[in-house]
Amino acid sequence: MEPVGITDLVFTERRNLYTVSRNPGKRVYGERLVNIKGTEYREWIPSRSKLSAYIMCGGKAFPFRKDSTVLYLGAASGTTASHVSDIVSEGKVYCVEFSPRSFRDLVKTSEGRDNMMPILGDATRPDEYSFALDRADIVYEDVAQKRQADILVDNMERYCARFGMVSVKARSEDVTADPKEVFRMTEARLKERGCRIMESIPLDPYEKDHMMIVVEKLRTAYVVAFKDGKYLMVHNRKRNGWEMPGGKIEGDETPEEAARRECIEESGYDVDIVAVKDIGYCKVCAGIVKERVSDGEMESDLFDSLPENLAFDTDEYNTVVPWARMIIEK
Ligand code: SAM
Repeated sequence: MEPVGITDLVFTERRNLYTVSRNPGKRVYGERLVNIKGTEYREWIPSRSKLSAYIMCGGKAFPFRKDSTVLYLGAASGTTASHVSDIVSEGKVYCVEFSPRSFRDLVKTSEGRDNMMPILGDATRPDEYSFALDRADIVYEDVAQKRQADILVDNMERYCARFGMVSVKARSEDVTADPKEVFRMTEARLKERGCRIMESIPLDPYEKDHMMIVVEKLRTAYVVAFKDGKYLMVHNRKRNGWEMPGGKIEGDETPEEAARRECIEESGYDVDIVAVKDIGYCKVCAGIVKERVSDGEMESDLFDSLPENLAFDTDEYNTVVPWARMIIEK
């Protein structure tokens, strides 16, 4: 028995996969149990679990760590979730399932696994289970219904997760469409919502017309920067509207460093960052406009209320602008 290569939390022997059981002596779905020198391994059968199939099909991106917090959407009776519970032995797996019948089995599977939390809830309504957790490292989704990309990103944003994995079932999106087209559109939607595709692996021959997509949420930051009671905005020509200066957090940058660099690049104005607020998909800074240090790539202006033509269809400025104003005027 040796680690599988992409992670030291999954094991392999004679081309079979195993996880170390958190609940020794108990089978979840009839899998083989193997005891080696006092450690019990559970066989992880790829025809029964898409996450196992993903590894067998050569998936390399594996964001799980032993202390990860995982939000698992569409846990059914807990077959795969039980292996995730083995893998994140010092972390937790919150398992959302909306079918009461499957949920009963999920509760049984969770018995004896104190890091596995069954939740009866609907993955399309991420707020429904905020009583149970406030953030996650990874969202794993296997719901086999429409809008799989949006369900993933809505949950990643709500629970500030950096990584996401979705097992896309082509027929759930559109029974008549060519699966390749469904996968292409799902990837495009994930990118549009600010995700970087780390890997896309077809799950054939274990699951027909399924693709496992692993994503990382791009980290972004922007600044609401004030001068004489007004705030600085830049006009984004590509998006044809006004927005706060900001963009992607590069490498080891802090959100403050990224927001300041982006502000200088886009508006030409340097800025003093005074506070940072986490709004899930993005960090928002409150700042004070300093001197002009360069030309700036975009037209910029100072506003005392939001202009009509905003670049983003968003209400969030209605919350973050008063927040930043309160900090600056304190
Ligand atoms: N992930 C499971 C495994 O590997 O053991 C199998 C999941 S099965 C393919 C899909 C499950 O998602 C079903 O149990 C279904 O009831 C559940 N589901 C579908 N839509 C859902 C939603 N909106 N919220 C929660 N669960 C959902």
